[in-house]
Amino acid sequence: MLSTRIARLTPYVPGEQPQDRRYLKLNTNENPYPPSPRIAEFLKTFDPERLRLYPDPRFTDLCRVIADAEQASPDQVFMGNGSDEVLSFAFFAFFDSSRGKLLFPEITYSFYPVYCDFYGIDHQKIPLLPDFSLDVDEFLSVRPSCGVIFPNPNAPTGICLSLDRIAGLLDRYPDDRVVAIDEAYIDFGGESAAGLTDRYPNLLVIKTFSKSKSLAGLRLGYAVGARPLIDALYTVKDAFNSYPVSMLSQRIGEIAVSDAAYYRDVAEKIIAVREAFSSELKRLGWRVFPSRANFVLAGLDGVSGETVYQTLKRRGILVRHFNLPGVSDFVRITIGTEADMKQLIREIVSAFHS
Ligand SMILES: *Cc1c(COP(=O)(O)O)cnc(C)c1O
Repeated sequence: MLSTRIARLTPYVPGEQPQDRRYLKLNTNENPYPPSPRIAEFLKTFDPERLRLYPDPRFTDLCRVIADAEQASPDQVFMGNGSDEVLSFAFFAFFDSSRGKLLFPEITYSFYPVYCDFYGIDHQKIPLLPDFSLDVDEFLSVRPSCGVIFPNPNAPTGICLSLDRIAGLLDRYPDDRVVAIDEAYIDFGGESAAGLTDRYPNLLVIKTFSKSKSLAGLRLGYAVGARPLIDALYTVKDAFNSYPVSMLSQRIGEIAVSDAAYYRDVAEKIIAVREAFSSELKRLGWRVFPSRANFVLAGLDGVSGETVYQTLKRRGILVRHFNLPGVSDFVRITIGTEADMKQLIREIVSAFHS
């Protein structure tokens, strides 16, 4: 009954979304604050009659506001049903093992190897440096490679690569191979590389509305890059599904982008809570990696990441544990509200420090 293709798929396992009881959910990097209040206003007045028609397959209005925000032109923007879909299309469009392996960090977003399996792309994982930052020189030393992808800040470490280092990579990397930067967490203190896409025609920057825009449930993400890259993504989309972004998503996305001041505020609050929480954990003796994201990777000497995860889960708090080499000693903790993090600290103190 099943195709032979399906036998070789290993699906990505997303963080738990349990329905059995109420947890304090600090496991999937959702934003603890609501999306822009302008969206609630819009939904009150939306006329469902408009849903009779198909949405705009070129996302015209939404691309225009995003292009303004990114200082790009609208034809340098591509939209998808979540940035995971944009990433998937990018893997299909740009990475081809006949030209070498795709390179990504050894510790990174675990969806990348899944897309490689799906599309049959050979890949090579590049070890992180001892401080868990990206080893740019090592990315450049593997030849040939068909492309590079990494999140910036990286996940699940939260560590950010500076724009200088990124430009340094692009200056030395073959300009006929795509470098894709997944900026899912860039609004929490990093510097976006989107402004470099004019200078580097092989640079694709991918962003999402799921984290900093508090719209994970909407499913909206986009890519910024030079015209030929964006055109290739449209070709993939139109060979797969002409309408991946609903009319409501396009409209709501536009409204979210228009409320930059609100979201700057939300990001600032999360950054402040992240810094206070990180200091508090360090004070308790935890190892905490310096994060520019809305999560921190942290661990306690002598206690396995699995134990921390299980202990907190029994106490009603979900964090994420990755049973992978290099990170299994740690857990990734999403930054919630100030009250959320105080509750977590109380449980940590009671479980591990009393
Ligand atoms: C959350 C996340 C995404 C996916 O975002 P969606 O837009 O919700 O699909 C992509 N990349 C990284 C590194 C992420 O953490």
